[in-house]
Amino acid sequence: MDDFDFENRIVSPTEIMGDNDSDNPLRPRRLDDYIGQEKVKQNLSVFIEAAKQRHETLDHVLLYGPPGLGKTTLSGIIANELNVNLRITSGPAIEKPGDLAAILTNLNEGDVLFIDEIHRISRAVEEILYPAMEDFAIDIVTGKGQMAASYHLPLPQFTLVGATTRAGQLTAPLRDRFGVCLRLELYTPEELAKIVTRSASILNIETEPDGALEIASRSRGTPRIANRLLKRVRDFAQVMSNGVITLETSRIALERLEIDELGLDANDRRMLQAIIKFYRGGPVGLETLAATIGEEAITIEDVIEPYLMQIGFLNRTPKGRCITRAACLHLGYDLPDVQESQIKFE
Ligand code: ADP
Repeated sequence: MDDFDFENRIVSPTEIMGDNDSDNPLRPRRLDDYIGQEKVKQNLSVFIEAAKQRHETLDHVLLYGPPGLGKTTLSGIIANELNVNLRITSGPAIEKPGDLAAILTNLNEGDVLFIDEIHRISRAVEEILYPAMEDFAIDIVTGKGQMAASYHLPLPQFTLVGATTRAGQLTAPLRDRFGVCLRLELYTPEELAKIVTRSASILNIETEPDGALEIASRSRGTPRIANRLLKRVRDFAQVMSNGVITLETSRIALERLEIDELGLDANDRRMLQAIIKFYRGGPVGLETLAATIGEEAITIEDVIEPYLMQIGFLNRTPKGRCITRAACLHLGYDLPDVQESQIKFE
C-alpha cells in the first residue's frame, strides 16, 4: 500500500508549513468577528461581561474539540475582550515544573495563559498547576534532605485557557478546576463560506458566493482547512479566471488538488477502501486499522475520524470501526462486495 502522509496533506486540520498561524491576519480578534460556534460565543460573552463588571479575572476556561476549529483564536479573543495580555504555551513545551513556575511568575495581574494540548502535560507539572489555578500560589521546594526549603509564592490572578482535542484524557482533578468547559463543533458549509469570504476580503481576493461555498463544502467543517484551500484556489483563479474565484474555478482547482465534493482526499479514500477491501466493511479495531494503513491510532482518532463520522461514513462500535452504506456508495463500491450485515443502513 502507498505511503500515507496525513500530517502534511492539504486537508490536514493540524498546522502545516505555509499556514503561518501564529500572527496570521486571518485570525479574528474580537468575538463579533468570530464566525459560528454561536452557543460558545453567547456563553463566553456573558462570562466575560460579568467578570469585567465585577472587576474580577475570568474563571479558567477549557476549550475542547478537533484541531483547526479556532481554540487558539478564541483564547486570543478572550484576552482582547478582557483587555489583558495573552501568553501562549503548550503541554509538551512545559517539560519541568520549573518551566511552568517561570511562566506563572512572569504573568501580570489578569493575564490569560493559553496552554494548548493541555492533556499532554506531565504529572509533575500538573501538580504545580492545581494550587496555581485554585489559590493563585505555588509551593517551590529547593535543595534536598536537610537543606531542603519550601517557599510559598503568591501569583498574580490569571485566567488559564486550556485547549485539548481529547477532554477524556484530562485527569479528573484537572478537569474539575476549570469553571467553564466549552466544546467546539465542526462548522457547517454556510458558516465556513462566511469565513472564506471574510478571509478573501482580508487577502484582497475576489470571490463569487458560490465559489466560496464550493471551497467551504470541501473543507471538512474546519476553518484552518478552508483558509488553506482558499489560498490554493486563488493560485488557480489567478491563472484561469483573472483572479476571481468562481464556482467553476473552485471546482477545477479542488479537483486538481484531488479533494472531492465532500472534502475527502486520496488518503481518506484509501483508508475507507482498506476497511472495505481488507475487513469487508468492518468492524476493524483501531490499532489494526492503524497498522494496516501505517498511521498512528491517535491521528486516525483525532484528525481523520471526526469528519468521516460527521458525514455518516464511519461508525465507532464497541467491536471496531465500520464503514457505512453511504461511504460505499460514495466510493463507487457495489454493496454485495461488502458484508451487508456489517454495514449500517440508514
Ligand atoms: P485550533 O487552535 O483549534 O487548532 P486555530 O485557532 O489555530 O485552531 O484556528 C485555525 C485558523 O482558522 C485560524 O488561523 C483562523 O484564521 C481560522 N479560524 C478559526 N476559527 C475561526 C472562526 N470562528 N472565524 C474565522 N476564522 C476562524
